[in-house]
Amino acid sequence: MPNLLDFDPAQMTAWFADQGEKPFRATQVLRWLHHFGVADFDAMTNIAKSLREKLRGSAQIKPPAVISDRMSGDGTRKFLFDVGGGNAVETVFIPESGRGTLCVSTQAGCALECAFCSTGKQGFNRNLTTAEIIGQLWQAERALEQGKTGETGRDERVISNVVLMGMGEPLANFENAVAALRLMLDDNAYGLSRRRVTVSTAGLVPAMDRLREECPVALAVSLHAPNDALRNALVPINQKYPLAELMAACRRYLEKAPRDFITFEYVMLDGVNDHEQDAHSLLALTRQVPCKFNLIPFNPFPGTRYRRSKSERVRRFADILMGAGIVATTRKTRGEDIDAACGQLAGQVQDKTRRVTI
Ligand code: SAH
Repeated sequence: MPNLLDFDPAQMTAWFADQGEKPFRATQVLRWLHHFGVADFDAMTNIAKSLREKLRGSAQIKPPAVISDRMSGDGTRKFLFDVGGGNAVETVFIPESGRGTLCVSTQAGCALECAFCSTGKQGFNRNLTTAEIIGQLWQAERALEQGKTGETGRDERVISNVVLMGMGEPLANFENAVAALRLMLDDNAYGLSRRRVTVSTAGLVPAMDRLREECPVALAVSLHAPNDALRNALVPINQKYPLAELMAACRRYLEKAPRDFITFEYVMLDGVNDHEQDAHSLLALTRQVPCKFNLIPFNPFPGTRYRRSKSERVRRFADILMGAGIVATTRKTRGEDIDAACGQLAGQVQDKTRRVTI
């Protein structure tokens, strides 16, 4: 039985057509599922009882179950979702003044093995389904709605931004990640603007081109090194798609991107990639790419050999970039007390030996 949370808007319409139903029925159900967060056919009151009966017999609505829901001292909230077979993935909600960002996972584990990332250290089990990806947003909206004070009296969405920046490489799970993106953008579902939905990639060049054509949203690229020698070691996918190709792909992406810059993420590793010379090399490397830098203080995890750069050094690094006219922000570490910070998401991944070819 299909899970209706697996369908993007076009797939929902196609499925309803297969059932001999009109396209507007697909839109109605889409609204019930994603706009109103309903999981029960009986709650879909503008749909005739007979059709509800038919739907119950031919489809299910199955979001991933919440295993745990923890709140950090700084308001960051981390959900752990059961995705079956002993696997679990994490989702983080980060409240800030004026916006709320949900950081969503796309894979159980990750195959890219970036040297400084705890998800990468775990290995890869499998791609998440569309229902498991969009289900994280579906569940988080429900959980957060309950806590809403309603002080403003307006219909404000608590989650204003989504970043595919949790566990996994979104562009290595292209079809399902894009189906979930289409739901996030659709006015009958979550209605988020393309500028408020960000895909973060370690640099899968062909998939970046596909994303530009099929579903351009804001793009963040995990750069982490100013030259191929160091990047090959830190982000091994660089051996396949080296920096010159990655920079060219970034430029191509900007032709259709909803924002006129690429965000480069750069994890600050003490004594590894945080020298003044590295900042100067980055300026040369990215000269042709309109960009902003987001410096991420390294978040340690058990067994890692890396250390976080001293804050003075991060400041100096940012100053060099800003001195050249590049916006460089330093990501505030959030949710560290509940292991919810960048690179600390581990979830639970079974059969860690699986590998995919990318
Ligand atoms: N696979 C995607 C998205 C997941 S990671 C990507 O590589 O972009 C989200 C961001 O956190 C990436 O920039 C990643 O490199 C960074 N990150 C990973 N481990 C980290 C750690 N231990 N400390 C700080 N940032 C980390």
